[in-house]
Amino acid sequence: MSKVALITDISGQDGSYLAELLLKKGYIVHGIIQHRPVMNTESFNDDEYFNHPDFRIHHYNQGEISNSGGLLALIRPDEIYNLDITSGTATHSTLPAVGISALRMLEAIRSQGLEHKTRYYHASSPTLCGLVDGMSINEMVTFNVPSADAVAQISDFWTVVNYRETFGMHACNGILFNHESPRRNERFVTRKITRGLANITQGLEKCLYLGNLNALRDWGHARDYVKMQWLMLQQDKPEDFVIATGVQFTVRQFVTFAALELGIKLRFVGKGIEEKGVIAAIISPLAAALKVGDVIVAVDPRCLRPAEVSKVSANPSKARRQLGWAPETSLQDLVIEMVLADLATAKRAARLKLYG
Ligand code: GDP
Repeated sequence: MSKVALITDISGQDGSYLAELLLKKGYIVHGIIQHRPVMNTESFNDDEYFNHPDFRIHHYNQGEISNSGGLLALIRPDEIYNLDITSGTATHSTLPAVGISALRMLEAIRSQGLEHKTRYYHASSPTLCGLVDGMSINEMVTFNVPSADAVAQISDFWTVVNYRETFGMHACNGILFNHESPRRNERFVTRKITRGLANITQGLEKCLYLGNLNALRDWGHARDYVKMQWLMLQQDKPEDFVIATGVQFTVRQFVTFAALELGIKLRFVGKGIEEKGVIAAIISPLAAALKVGDVIVAVDPRCLRPAEVSKVSANPSKARRQLGWAPETSLQDLVIEMVLADLATAKRAARLKLYG
């Protein structure tokens, strides 16, 4: 008998990679798409999914998800992956709705009498830990609450722990550090960089404007991280895990690597908001339309954050020790994959522009 999984936010980056992984493992996968004012469908436009016989989509309006008990009764999932994380979306007025995502789902499981059948994974992020600049985060972290997002995530985190301890449910939190891919939303810096630079090589944009180039992040590939989400639910004993590579790079380094993949050697000149990325050499025909001396990266003060976490550092050693998990994709390979995908899109857009 195939296992049945339910994934919320299936149209997001993680949902789509996780669906791919589980379908390959022989699961029947049900995905929830929650309609929002702005939907990211880019990561999820592949016919391969929609036509897969073991894949079903359920549409909900925002807020309706609390009525998911009926769906649970129908599909009786072995595993639920709640990826509907609040990241940059919670405000104090939406908090009552977003801070109880885990509670709704765990209660729905209990109300259907599935508490000893259904295993529950809850997606968290370092937002949970608040503004802890430079601190190395492991599962023993103490939280502080500087934003509505953090409040919402902390509420969900402890609800999961509470249901695990009180009702003996198999429920765990994954604290996932930044994980990227060609399916990453462009509001995140990595995708903004690969897309912007690819567009510049094709003459679609002139300059990439960024904020804090010194910010340090731990970037992994989303495809590697969803494997860890699955592994967490295969454990006999439910526990929480930090998922990260343990290695940090600056935004400036990410820009430099992405530019190199596009045949551009960059030199950074100036300091602070005056800093610029200037082309020092063209090293491949991909960048043939550009010339040495062109300024293609600049700082825009509007992209600087008033409350910035400029250094994020994670300690994923528990995941390595207990689950044997290690990221398979290096930062360089991640950059190459993202750049190639955005270059193909930029070339298509440039051709369309040419033909009017
Ligand atoms: P976050 O770690 O969830 O905030 O992921 P982001 O990709 O949004 O930001 C990562 C880091 O890049 C943060 O320290 C940002 O301040 C920094 N950064 C620098 N320039 C930009 C920019 O133009 N856009 C975004 N999103 N982040 C930027």
